[in-house]
Amino acid sequence: MKPYHRIPIQDCGEPLVTIPRAGVSGEVSWFRVVQPHPYQVLGAPYGDQSPYRVRSGVLAALTKAQVVLQQHQPRWGLQIFDAYRPYAVTEKFWRLIADERYVANPAKGSGHNRGIAVDLTIVDLQTKKELDMGTGFDNFSDTAHHSFTDLPAQVLQNRKLLRDEMVAQGFVPLDTEWWHYALPNAGRYPLLNIPFKKID
Ligand SMILES: [Zn+2]
Repeated sequence: MKPYHRIPIQDCGEPLVTIPRAGVSGEVSWFRVVQPHPYQVLGAPYGDQSPYRVRSGVLAALTKAQVVLQQHQPRWGLQIFDAYRPYAVTEKFWRLIADERYVANPAKGSGHNRGIAVDLTIVDLQTKKELDMGTGFDNFSDTAHHSFTDLPAQVLQNRKLLRDEMVAQGFVPLDTEWWHYALPNAGRYPLLNIPFKKID
């Protein structure tokens, strides 16, 4: 028995769904995703399927967040860095790095393994430029913490906008990563290691 099996699970039954990618039509419910996926570049075993998948409830909440965001600023959209992460990917990174400050400990599992966490930012859909959040994605320094306020006012405002949009849709921020949000109640969502080919 692995330690994460001790987390009581009552599956919510929500399937993993692919996050629809923004195309030329600029549909409001589509999202920008980073291509290629940052962990694919590092050799993560996603196979040849899209790594941008989340539980259907997460996609519904993300879509609402983007709709509300675009009511304020039609040019802006959400850009996804990472979403569902197969358990095998977490294990691979743990073997490489084995430092909880930088990668999730497989013994605990993570919101990404459950398909309920997303790493994201806000992007200008016309210029394709990300809003200035003070650090890049996966910057593991104090500067990425929500409590770090020694930053330009515009950066603080940008982080607050992302946080407000996500919290309004039920997402919970992570203190140490401005880009990470997850739906609560991890116990409803078992860790998943489904080969991507079987998800569709
Ligand atoms: Zn994350």
